[in-house]
Amino acid sequence: MNEQAVANAQVAKSEWTELQRDIAGQLDPTAQSSDWRDWQWQLKHSIRDIELLEYMLGKCFSSQEQEQLRRTVAKFPMSITPYYFSLIHKQAYSTDPIYLQSVPSSLELETHSEEMADPLAEDKHRPVSCISHRYPDRVLFYVSNACAMYCRHCTRKRQVGDRESKPGRDDIEQGIEYIRNTRQVRDVLLSGGDPLMMDDEFLDWLLGRLVNISHVEVIRIGTRMPVVLPYRITDKLCRTLAQYHPLWVHTHFNHPREMTEAAAESLAMLADAGIPLGNQSVLLAGVNDCPRIMRRLVHRLVANRVRPYYIYQCDLAEGLSHFRTPVGKGIEIMESLIGHTSGFAVPQYVIDAPKGGGKVRVMPNYLISCSDRHVVLRNYEGMIVTYKEPDTYTPRSCEGGCERCGLDPPESGAEELDAIGIHQLLTNTETTEALVPASNERAHRMH
Ligand SMILES: *Cc1c(COP(=O)(O)O)cnc(C)c1O
Ligand code: SF4
Repeated sequence: MNEQAVANAQVAKSEWTELQRDIAGQLDPTAQSSDWRDWQWQLKHSIRDIELLEYMLGKCFSSQEQEQLRRTVAKFPMSITPYYFSLIHKQAYSTDPIYLQSVPSSLELETHSEEMADPLAEDKHRPVSCISHRYPDRVLFYVSNACAMYCRHCTRKRQVGDRESKPGRDDIEQGIEYIRNTRQVRDVLLSGGDPLMMDDEFLDWLLGRLVNISHVEVIRIGTRMPVVLPYRITDKLCRTLAQYHPLWVHTHFNHPREMTEAAAESLAMLADAGIPLGNQSVLLAGVNDCPRIMRRLVHRLVANRVRPYYIYQCDLAEGLSHFRTPVGKGIEIMESLIGHTSGFAVPQYVIDAPKGGGKVRVMPNYLISCSDRHVVLRNYEGMIVTYKEPDTYTPRSCEGGCERCGLDPPESGAEELDAIGIHQLLTNTETTEALVPASNERAHRMH
């Protein structure tokens, strides 16, 4: 370890930094360094109103700004943990990536015609209030409505923090019952809000109920705690989670500055508990819309045993227009990563399509042409090469001969019958020739 690393490690173990002490002192004059590391203390002293925010920033907004910010916070709640606040560089806060993600802006009040309160049509895919079932084999399970820090770019900013729609025990029971009765669900993604806002006993109970359902093969938790409140990741939490493998955790780092000593420690604790870690970023104007920032971010992630999973295009949700970038910016970032760095450091770039279309992967094009004998590819350097197709290939047709294929136990055949979409066109060629939009007039006339 170099000197700086040793110094950091010492700070991390026992003491707090001067900055942390000053911030804690402003919020709670009796605070000790152990309080700073206590997630309940952090939640209790989170910054929730504009006056306190001004005091902490050491600045006064104009009365007009104050009024607009009050209206913004009334519509989309604010809560900033002292920890996350301590990462803001106050000298240049207006362009600071931490500030932009946590401090409200009056731009959130601007509405545009293309924006929607529920852009992903999540409400239409809810068989019960806590479950969104859009994909065949997996569900989103909303188990909490609260977050440690309300991200200004949150897709669900209309719902989070809303006490009225907080799921109760009955709702959760209903969700568990739905999963138990729906055999095709093999992957349950706990979401919210932030599921780790719930206490360890509740998580223990919920995970216990879920692993007891025989068709549930894997559970995932989506949480931003390692980023906004890393002290939530305690030894006790890790021991609790480790009882329910295979359990995955997906977190949400957007900027390399978020990878602090404390964040890295929390990730190490999760990884040491045997939990595979993934990261989902959102592409945000002014925060991370730059190939250099994204490259630094993915490198920091893999160095901390976190696999970059998705980069999301910013949704068409209300109050997010100032965060949106062109899709071309995302393609440019992907172009700068693929081939240029380790394959496992490259996330997938997705647009969560409006109207419940779901995640659509978007990529630079690498297959540029083909004939029956060759495909033409271009690589990341711009080199154009051909790959020769085989001269002989015996098409493999499936008559359910799973013994021959080594599938044990054999498939039930239900898989092929259940095929949907383009996969269905390719699988059930005898019964399905085309997918026709329900609104296609010409098709209607033909009937
Ligand atoms: C994103 C999402 C999932 C999980 O999708 P993966 O691509 O498997 O990570 C499941 N359900 C809904 C509704 C989602 O939006
Ligand atoms: S942690 Fe997730 S759910 Fe909570 S505000 Fe941030 S993006 Fe939204």
